[in-house]
Amino acid sequence: MFTVEPIACLRDNYAYWLTCGRTGVTAVVDPSEVDPVLASAKGREPALVLCTHHHLDHVGGVPGLTAKFPRMKVIASSYDNGRIDGQTDSVSDGDRFSVGDVTVEVMLVPGHTLGAIAFVARAGERTAVFTGDTMFLAGCGRLFEGTPADMHRSLQRIVSLPADTQIYCGHEYTADNLRFAAMLEPSNEAIARAVARTSDLRARGLPTVPHSVAEEREINPFVRPQSADLRKNLGLGLGSSDVDVIGAAREAKNSFR
Ligand code: ZN
Ligand code: FE
Repeated sequence: MFTVEPIACLRDNYAYWLTCGRTGVTAVVDPSEVDPVLASAKGREPALVLCTHHHLDHVGGVPGLTAKFPRMKVIASSYDNGRIDGQTDSVSDGDRFSVGDVTVEVMLVPGHTLGAIAFVARAGERTAVFTGDTMFLAGCGRLFEGTPADMHRSLQRIVSLPADTQIYCGHEYTADNLRFAAMLEPSNEAIARAVARTSDLRARGLPTVPHSVAEEREINPFVRPQSADLRKNLGLGLGSSDVDVIGAAREAKNSFR
């Protein structure tokens, strides 16, 4: 048993508290800044910080938290060694560690950056994944360092997790992503339902995280390269590869307003 609490940071970032329900051991994922983390701590002291990638809007709070909690471990991709101020531990694909009773497995998911990792948290029947800027709800991150092929492989790994896996991503971009998804698949009813639920949540100031893997498989254009509508609206036919579709969708999203 574990809990995940989003911490709203900066303009639209999410850091998270990942807390073991039995032991109370807790980790902070992607602390963009210090103050919102401390303000939501309720007496918790993070034993670990988990960094999905080296961008400052995900690790900017690390030095400040380390100053406050000197015994805290800061876990990040071996690829990002030297790119993250305060990193103490380097991890690679398949590595595991624990947060109390929660087992966390590292999944290398290049695309947004080459060292990007997702953290898969498991305890009992429950699975959650922290995807940083690789996968957003109904979208994916920009390709700063990787290729469409990298991103395709990474997203497919994430959506190969169990269908009820909860996805916690690095930014609140869901409403914008769904506008783009609806343009590409106008008759997709799961997208229409997600649009309605998202605007309701946002109107009440609530986060849209998490979605399940099952839901993302229905609505996220970047994990649906086989969709005929999607291909048609990107100007691609059935002869194009899945990677071509992901690349074209990412290009179209870059200029979508
Ligand atoms: Zn980033
Ligand atoms: Fe980011």
